[in-house]
Amino acid sequence: MRVTGFATVISIVTVLVTLAGAQTAANDEYETLADEVLNNSTFDWVLVKSDRVRMHYQPGSFAEQHRFMILRSLDSAVEEALETLEESRYEGGLRAFYFESREEMERAVGRPVAGFSDWGGNAIYIVLNKDWRSFEVHEFTHVVTMGAWGSPHDSCGWMIEGIANAIDGWCREYMIDEVVLHLLGEEQLPPLGEFFEDSGELGEIRAGFYGASFIRFLSEVYGAETVRELWSQGTGALPELLDASLDAIEDRWKSYVKTKVPSPREIDLEAINDVGCG
Ligand SMILES: [Zn+2]
Repeated sequence: MRVTGFATVISIVTVLVTLAGAQTAANDEYETLADEVLNNSTFDWVLVKSDRVRMHYQPGSFAEQHRFMILRSLDSAVEEALETLEESRYEGGLRAFYFESREEMERAVGRPVAGFSDWGGNAIYIVLNKDWRSFEVHEFTHVVTMGAWGSPHDSCGWMIEGIANAIDGWCREYMIDEVVLHLLGEEQLPPLGEFFEDSGELGEIRAGFYGASFIRFLSEVYGAETVRELWSQGTGALPELLDASLDAIEDRWKSYVKTKVPSPREIDLEAINDVGCG
């Protein structure tokens, strides 16, 4: 789905609602969206920074109370995403802006989303408050994948959110594969071929879990290079990349999910559907 100026993909995180953004400067006056947000006079930004990350927050906010913990987690988000993608290319300093609410987010970037990444500007925009956990790893992963790998093959739009969700790894108190095993048990996930053909049909939540779990499988069993090949060559190349039929690949993935979840748990899907992964 493409909306002028935005590559927009909705995900499990997005249920609540995260956008993967593209190069976006909403106002010609400023070179980057970050400059525009920093100059928005309705915000009073305070800065704390590490070698790699500049964190912007507002006085009295939840983010301020936890700023040093957050700064450390931003640093490890950068490490984690780069390590998993086996990418070293990350030259720009990352900026992270923290908002208390979606209303504040809308005032800054024009949309009431829970998270947003401007990969052209090396910046992420995050809602964080006492009731909502933030998605630094997820958003930063968008910055790295889109920045280093460019846009995916037409058949691999699902990978944008899949990779970010896979590296984040969690939804509420569940690990991705715990939810996926539950969905498989309830026959809520179609065969791999159908998912590749139309992941949108599944709805953002199930598609988000499906994609994330499949990416984790590929990355862990075959390596980041295979994920990258798929990203650029498209889903049609998968049987050749893995030297197996789609059915055999699907079986391998399902076995992988089972080994990841030796003791299946009760999953509160309703809570995930209602509130999302925060
Ligand atoms: Zn996302």
